[in-house]
Amino acid sequence: MEFKYSMPTEIHFGEDVILKNKEVFSAIGSKALIVTGRSSAKKNGSYDDVKKALSKTGIEYVLFDEVEENPSLETIEKGSDIGKKNHVDFVIGIGGGSPMDAAKAMAVFIKNPKINKENIFRTGKLESIPMVAVPTTSGTGSEVTQYSIVTSTKEKTKKNLGQSIFPRVAFIDSRYTFNLPYDITVNTAIDAFTHLVEGYLNTNSTFMSDIYGEKGFELFKYCFEKLISKELTQEFRNKVMMASVMGGIQIAQNGTSLPHGMGYPLTYFKGLPHGLANGVLTIEYLKSFKNQTKIERMLNIMGYSHLGELEAVFNSLIDVRVDITVEEINEYSKSFFSNKSKLKNHTEEVSLEDIVRIYSKSLHKD
Ligand code: NAP
Ligand code: ZN
Repeated sequence: MEFKYSMPTEIHFGEDVILKNKEVFSAIGSKALIVTGRSSAKKNGSYDDVKKALSKTGIEYVLFDEVEENPSLETIEKGSDIGKKNHVDFVIGIGGGSPMDAAKAMAVFIKNPKINKENIFRTGKLESIPMVAVPTTSGTGSEVTQYSIVTSTKEKTKKNLGQSIFPRVAFIDSRYTFNLPYDITVNTAIDAFTHLVEGYLNTNSTFMSDIYGEKGFELFKYCFEKLISKELTQEFRNKVMMASVMGGIQIAQNGTSLPHGMGYPLTYFKGLPHGLANGVLTIEYLKSFKNQTKIERMLNIMGYSHLGELEAVFNSLIDVRVDITVEEINEYSKSFFSNKSKLKNHTEEVSLEDIVRIYSKSLHKD
C-alpha cells in the first residue's frame, strides 16, 4: 500500500468555535481583509463573530463584501487591490464556496503584486498570504481544499486558479447554516455528495481517502432522508456540514472527475447553481460505469439495494429543466473531452460518445 495524504488545514468544528478560539487569529496576522458575499454573512452571525473575535484580540480589518456567485477574476482583482492598499497580512473568507474561493485567490494576488487576471494562468507555483475560512453553506468543502474555482469571462468558463491555497485555519460552525433556504441547502448538499462520489470513484483513491468517502456516505444515509422530509434540524445541519468537510478532505487528495468537469458549462452558460449542475449528471455518470463494484459498496453503506433507489432520491430533490440543444451538448462534450485533468481521474476509459450520452440522457429526459 502506498499513498500520500496531506491535510494542512487546522480544523475547529463546533458551536461557537470562532469566539472560543479567537487567539488563533493573533498567531496569523495583525490586519485582515474580510471577504464575504453581498449579504448572507451579515445575517447569519458569522461576520459578527469574526468581528468580535478580531476586536477582542486587537486585530484590525477591512471588509470587501462584493463577491458574487461563481466569483470572477475582475472581482478578485478588485478585492485584492483593497487588501494591498490597506497592507493586510491575512485574508478571512466567510460564506459559501464563492467568497471562500475568492478570498483564497485574493491571498495569492496580494502576496504577488505583479499577478493579475491576465497573467495568473500563465505563472508557476505562487505563494499566498495566510487565509482563514468560515463556511456558511454545507457543500463545497472549500474550507479544507486547496482549490479556488474562479470564473474567467475571457475564457468563458469556470476553472481552478491552479494554485494550492489550503486555508491555514477553518472555523466550522453549522449554526451559520440554520437559516439557509431549502433550495440552497439541497443544491449545496448535493455538491458535497458529488465530492464524496467523485473522490471515491477516482483513480487517485486510496485506503485513506476511502475512509472519508465511506464515513460521508454513512452521514448521507441520514441527510438524504431529512432533506426529503424537509426536517432541517440542528442535528441535520451538523451532519451535512460534517459530510461536506469529509467530501472536501477527499477531493483535496483525489480531485473530482466527470460531473464536476461537465457541470461547469451548465453553470456558465445555463446558470445552474454549482451543486445542481453536478447533480443533474450524477446518476447517468454512475450508470455509465462498467464495473459497478465500488458503487454497490457505496449504495450498501447508504442502505440502498440498487442504483434506482438513489435515482429516486435525486428525482425527488432535483427538479430542473435545462433548455439545451444537441449542438450545445456536442460543444460542451468536445470542450470537456479536451480537459485531460478531469478525465484522468475517472477510473474507466471513456469516449467522446460516452460524454455526449451522459449529457443527453441527463438533460434530454423526455
Ligand atoms: P455560493 O455561491 O457561495 O452562495 C450561494 C448563495 O447562498 C449566495 O446567494 C449566498 O449569499 C447564499 N448564502 C451563503 N450562505 C448563506 C447562509 N448561511 N444563509 C443564507 N444564504 C446563504 O454557494 P456555494 O454553493 O457554497 O459555492 C459555490 C462555489 O464554490 C462555486 O463557484 C463552485 O465552483 C465553488 N466550489 C469550490 C470548491 C473548492 O474546493 N474550492 C468545491 C466545490 C465548489 P451571499 O452572496 O449574500 O453570501
Ligand atoms: Zn463541487
